[in-house]
Amino acid sequence: MTQTAYISHPDCLLHDPGPHHPERPGRLHAVRNALLDEGLLEGLCLLDAPQASDAQLQRVHTPAHVARIRARAPATGETAMLDPDTAMGAHSLGAALRAAGAGIEGVRAVMEREADNVFCAVRPPGHHAERDRAMGFCLFNNVAVAAAHALEHYALARAAIADFDVHHGNGTEDIFRDDPRVLYCSSFQHPFYPDTPCAERDHLVHTPLAAGTDGAGFRAAIERDWLPALDRFAPELVLVSAGFDGHHDDPLAGLALVEDDFAWVTQMLAGVAARHAGGRLVSMLEGGYDLPSLGRSAAAHVRALCEAPRY
Ligand SMILES: [Zn+2]
Repeated sequence: MTQTAYISHPDCLLHDPGPHHPERPGRLHAVRNALLDEGLLEGLCLLDAPQASDAQLQRVHTPAHVARIRARAPATGETAMLDPDTAMGAHSLGAALRAAGAGIEGVRAVMEREADNVFCAVRPPGHHAERDRAMGFCLFNNVAVAAAHALEHYALARAAIADFDVHHGNGTEDIFRDDPRVLYCSSFQHPFYPDTPCAERDHLVHTPLAAGTDGAGFRAAIERDWLPALDRFAPELVLVSAGFDGHHDDPLAGLALVEDDFAWVTQMLAGVAARHAGGRLVSMLEGGYDLPSLGRSAAAHVRALCEAPRY
């Protein structure tokens, strides 16, 4: 049977970007409660996220960025705005270090065969954080930290990052733009936030989706753009930026995906991992702001990981 690990940390609940912010602690409760309700949590290997070290963060961020995030952490009761969307409370630095550390632990777990695949239920999310800039609710680029750890610490030659969050992962692209060891596949509503220019590289696969795109359109685009590129690249590890804000019910975006579409794309990515990477797959939560559909979608994703073929 496939062993799926679930990595989180209570510190991730303490990140408070301020009242009425959509990226709120209840997101993680929604995910965990859905896994409990659907009977999935008891079958998972539960691991605590460690804090990422500065050396691990600086594989993908400038030392100045890491120092700035550390310096901006405010006193209790205060909120520091890094950009109009991105805020830090007193506990946000601790949460961000755990969120990045979850990916480090996830890579360790699959590389050391403690788990076949991993879902990291963490916040703040990461894929908008650039090498030298926090933005879009993101402080550190969690999935990029994980990919760099796989490449540097475990000396992998090729890692793929598949990002189905409704927003383009400009940060992940910024970090790996000139590193062909990482194949970055991103589907995203277009035109839409963050609307940063996409670079043209063989190892960057862009799948823009028009507002209103439903599951059939999404699946056709993934089959056309991602699966051939992933099979050609033959990654030794598959990382996933799992954003569920492409759901029909999400208030921040305009795609029309449903739970089955997230299960399907997870099955496709688990298949890539089985064919090329010994089944090794590490998925990290990104967006998803409607709590009921976030919970159900994350559960569909985790169920597909649990049912993934063994290598
Ligand atoms: Zn998003």
